Amino acid sequence: MASNEELFKKIIAHAKEYGFVFPSSEIYDGLSAVYDYGPFGVELKNNIKAYWWKSMVQYHENIVGLDSAIFMHPTVWKASGHVDAFNDPMIDNKDSKKRYRADVLVEDFILKIEDKIEKEVDKAANRFGDTFDEKMFRETNPRVQENLKKIEEIKQRFYPALERNDLADVKLLIEELGIVCPISGSRNWTDVRQFNLMFSTQMGSVNEDANAIYLRPETAQGIFVNFLNVQKSARMKIPFGIAQIGKAFRNEIVARQFLFRMREFEQMEMQFFVRPGEEMKWYSYWKEERMKWHLSLGMSEDKYRFHDHDKLAHYANAAADIEFEFPIGFKEIEGIHSRTDFDLGAHQEYSGKKMQYFDPELNESYVPYVVETSIGLDRTFLAVLSNSYHEEKLEDGSERVVLGIPAHLAPIKAAILPLMKKDGLPEKAKELLDTLKYDYRCFYEEKDTIGKRYRRMDALGTPFCITIDHQSLQDNTVTIRDRDSMKQERIGMDDVSGILREKIGR
Ligand code: ATP
Repeated sequence: MASNEELFKKIIAHAKEYGFVFPSSEIYDGLSAVYDYGPFGVELKNNIKAYWWKSMVQYHENIVGLDSAIFMHPTVWKASGHVDAFNDPMIDNKDSKKRYRADVLVEDFILKIEDKIEKEVDKAANRFGDTFDEKMFRETNPRVQENLKKIEEIKQRFYPALERNDLADVKLLIEELGIVCPISGSRNWTDVRQFNLMFSTQMGSVNEDANAIYLRPETAQGIFVNFLNVQKSARMKIPFGIAQIGKAFRNEIVARQFLFRMREFEQMEMQFFVRPGEEMKWYSYWKEERMKWHLSLGMSEDKYRFHDHDKLAHYANAAADIEFEFPIGFKEIEGIHSRTDFDLGAHQEYSGKKMQYFDPELNESYVPYVVETSIGLDRTFLAVLSNSYHEEKLEDGSERVVLGIPAHLAPIKAAILPLMKKDGLPEKAKELLDTLKYDYRCFYEEKDTIGKRYRRMDALGTPFCITIDHQSLQDNTVTIRDRDSMKQERIGMDDVSGILREKIGR
């Protein structure tokens, strides 16, 4: 059994070999934390996007879409608070010269204490067997209690220090906790500094008065500034939502971990505009709805959990993450935030334009409150890819790598494979391809033995392989092979389309 780190490396290698994800500018040794999606990656990514768009926009008559520009007026980012507050505290280890996020160092330290508690509970559960009362144990065991107290003390000191921007105290805490650099093992830390995560560039030629502008760090602001344009043109009534899929850019301090933390990535966001005072109701509603969406992707329930935030961003009055169990552990895949009227209020103030909605039922105007759902497309891609990667030992002793991607998301739905490259089999296969390709992304391949072609399709996550052989020429039948069970069935060629529709579902 591969360790999680090894498994993660294998998934990254697989993604490259099979045309899912390539490092950007690889011939120049790559660009840190930037990736390109290959021929099969782009299909999977598009399928995830389409599924999200359908479930958010098409299935909700009160949500409409938007595609706003990446570049925005620089004052947008002043108003939104990003110029002043979109920072991460960073710290360097003087011996290893490695840079870390100070908040991540402390949070990882807390996780380690939580791990200790869980180990203590597991040990006791094994010792006491059926008679074990977990709740009572957690509440009374001195070691568990001591560790819980320690966590609470760290949180009580750490989050207020961040809030006050007291970076000297954050450093002191790191020193007092004895946190060491995982590379050098030393406690030789620099001071903690704030680092703004926005990329900036120049608009206009150098000769003109070129203005500094930012690459958007989130897609949400394009929605906020267009709030009235959308509301009026699409005749929306509160509560309503605006959904958008698009690129966002963050100059992340620590950008390792493949698609999990990129400097250029894609978000799928929805801002839901509600009456002031009703935001908590909608916040709970969207938390549940979004979890249901994740479960509908076809991955198991125990892979997901909620994490309610202790430390809230400058714009939020409630926030939770949906976390997914990646090979690198449980990590955020989506955030659900109650953003109050912070953004619309700030844009109203900075632009001098009213950002209000006239509510005909209440007969009054107000700045709406906003509940947002913000999911990373690349992290969802990584979740699907890593969750579906399996190495299997087969009955005949051979091995295969198979991507068990849910059929509705699979990059290729059906491979069309003539058994041989002669005797009219390719022509017959292409006949079938021509009937299927308008409804399904198919893949035609005639090279290599049929066994090798099946393996390749398994590695790409293709749920169905359809093989055309000599019998097909006589009685118009083909075999259809199921990726997961590897079972083959003989069916009429005219039935293929109906069977795919039934099995792929959506
Ligand atoms: P983190 O705490 O991991 O930095 P965040 O809380 O800053 O994430 P949000 O601002 O809530 O993230 O962004 C919403 C979503 O966008 C996240 O849930 C995540 O899926 C995605 N996302 C954020 N930053 C990145 C990144 N650097 N690379 C890939 N996806 C990202």
